Amino acid sequence: LPNRLKGNEKSVWVEYIQLALQYKPLNLGQGFPDYYAPENVTNALASVAKSDNPLLQQYTRGFGHPRLVNALAKFYSKLINRDLDPNKEVLVTSGAYEALYSSLQGHTNPGDEWIIIEPFFDCYVPMVQSAGGIPRYIALKPKSTSGTVTSGDWIFDRKEMESLFNQKTKGIIINTPHNPIGKVFTLDELQFIADLAKKWNTLVISDEVYEHIVYEPYKHIRIATLPGMYERTITIGSAGKTFSVTGWKIGWAYGPANLLYNLQVIHQNSVYTCTTPTQEAVAIGFELEIERLDHPECYFRSLAMELLPKRDYMAKFLREVGMVPTIPEGGYFMLANWSALENKVKLHEETDENKDYRFTKWMTKNVGLLGIPPTAFYGPEHKTLAEDYVRYCFIKKDENLKAADKILKKWA
Ligand code: PMP
Ligand code: GLN
Repeated sequence: LPNRLKGNEKSVWVEYIQLALQYKPLNLGQGFPDYYAPENVTNALASVAKSDNPLLQQYTRGFGHPRLVNALAKFYSKLINRDLDPNKEVLVTSGAYEALYSSLQGHTNPGDEWIIIEPFFDCYVPMVQSAGGIPRYIALKPKSTSGTVTSGDWIFDRKEMESLFNQKTKGIIINTPHNPIGKVFTLDELQFIADLAKKWNTLVISDEVYEHIVYEPYKHIRIATLPGMYERTITIGSAGKTFSVTGWKIGWAYGPANLLYNLQVIHQNSVYTCTTPTQEAVAIGFELEIERLDHPECYFRSLAMELLPKRDYMAKFLREVGMVPTIPEGGYFMLANWSALENKVKLHEETDENKDYRFTKWMTKNVGLLGIPPTAFYGPEHKTLAEDYVRYCFIKKDENLKAADKILKKWA
């Protein structure tokens, strides 16, 4: 393995998807719905496959299929109150993963520092490091760990955040709504980060793949809309999360043309162009939602409404067995503290260094329920903060959530 890739050999997804295949547990691990995606979107793909326009099965424009970049530009222009140029300020990528990758490869010189908030979506770190950058970590910590804990209780220390910014800082990566905590960053928190980014003239990569999954009364705020921030922000989205089609792997980045240019250079020499039929179908999906943005049946409203009872049901059954869940304000993951149940698991039967890995593996093999170990979302120094936690995904059929409830009650 080349030196620049050393230390990145392990992936929680590779490991836990293998575990799921091997032990066939009830899988509340990797984040994806286990039920049908919205019909209008899957019908759109079916009709594209049968279209009488043969070109829809061929390569399309490299930086994004015209119909999709037009729909994205129209949609986000409305949301951020600025006229986006579909050809220069939007890039379609192979999932949000590639948007993150192209952003970091395209904007990192050796030795550049990127501030990363823990827990973080795990790929940020290998992407920074393989680009020659250096991750600088700051952890969200819960204000309390008993009673009702919500994702809003998880905060960063402002002095510590301030101390991370310096001459070498290239940027900060933020993720709101947050995976795995479900935190929806407040205006005050985002303004604090924005002020530091302006003071130190840094970039912001804003991973907003869960932008439409926010529970009342919380509101998603796009940091690119704060004064003086559009010019330094690359915002990232995902069709997989937006339309519940994670297998389509279509994502995007939007931001000022000069910043997106660097992403284009990476994209044109690696992926070059994304699949045409899925882009066409995602465009059709957006066109419908743009029409009904203010209606309750808009998918960007109905999805969160549909997920809310699932969230509350999961929080209830986790509590009933003695775990302490963090109630998420957004997204479809729930972090739960299982330390009260430690006497019911034989952690010594597993060999991993971190307790949450041992807990999740033991549970998968002996109880039949798979969750994700959150220390995978921490840098080397702060993993102890998350060892008593597990992440469960709740965008699952009610019958599967009920099955999880039963499995846990039988065990605990
Ligand atoms: N960022 C976060 C926070 C995620 O949870 C995910 C997983 N969907 C991604 C990025 C990657 O998204 P995609 O599946 O579109 O590549
Ligand atoms: N974003 C999803 C999650 O956090 C899937 C990640 C992945 O498959 N790499 O579970």
